Amino acid sequence: MIQGKTAVVTGSTSGIGLAIARAYAKAGANVVINGFGDAAAIETERSGIEAEFGVKAHYSGADMSKGAEITAMIKEAEETFGSVDFLVNNAGIQFVSPIEDFPPEKWEAIIAINLSSAFYAIHAALPGMKARKWGRIINTASAHALVASPFKSAYVAAKHGIAGLTKTVALEAATFGITVNAICPGYVWTPLVEKQIPDTMAARGLTKEQVINDVLLHAQPTKQFVTVDEVAAYALFLSSDDARNITGAILTIDGGWTAE
Ligand code: NAD
Repeated sequence: MIQGKTAVVTGSTSGIGLAIARAYAKAGANVVINGFGDAAAIETERSGIEAEFGVKAHYSGADMSKGAEITAMIKEAEETFGSVDFLVNNAGIQFVSPIEDFPPEKWEAIIAINLSSAFYAIHAALPGMKARKWGRIINTASAHALVASPFKSAYVAAKHGIAGLTKTVALEAATFGITVNAICPGYVWTPLVEKQIPDTMAARGLTKEQVINDVLLHAQPTKQFVTVDEVAAYALFLSSDDARNITGAILTIDGGWTAE
């Protein structure tokens, strides 16, 4: 089912994306990893995936803020492996600031990387999936696709946009054996969360411990961070045949955050 197929996971040199790419590889899929970082560390990760799981792993350095590079990444994946069967639109960045001070270039970057990149990747990958009458598209959204938090205007707008894109493409692809879903994690302990702590400290006038306990985990009734492996397991289930009738769904994994 997953074995021998190909997964493209954007933003997979770190955090959630890396865990998802490794989970696909463990299940026997060839993977395309993507994202920024130290070239030697990325190559160690790529070759490590091949050695550990006995699959092929290809690295694409495509910049998810650039439509032409995203289109080229999907084409390259199809040429390298013959198909793109799983597309996980996961790359994302964050910026925390009151809207009056929000730098316009940060707004543009977040909309491009967190939202428009999914459009470009789907635009390029869907024709192949439709022709083969099979595919799985998973968009890493966020609890912020369903609810807002102050000082995250661009991120919340992009993630709400991803929810709309997910539903729309699900309807367009429904009769082609293709499902399209959004996974909405609450706070997952990754570099993306770690990096926003200083800005949140500044924006709200809090200490690091206060940000972790009173802002981040305050939102999560379980008082626990979600783990990257839990998100990856969710993605793998959505990739299975048992999940063929789950489509257009905005699915939470947020420790109860959005139940409040
Ligand atoms: P992360 O910072 O660990 O990883 C982000 C990845 O995206 C990295 O591989 C990075 O290199 C890549 N990336 C960033 N800009 C890029 C660009 N222009 N082109 C290509 N790759 C780029 O973050 P994470 O926490 O693993 O986040 C992954 C996704 O999960 C994001 O969409 C994020 O919004 C979402 N998410 C995270 C959390 C959380 O609490 N960590 C919660 C909900 C949703």
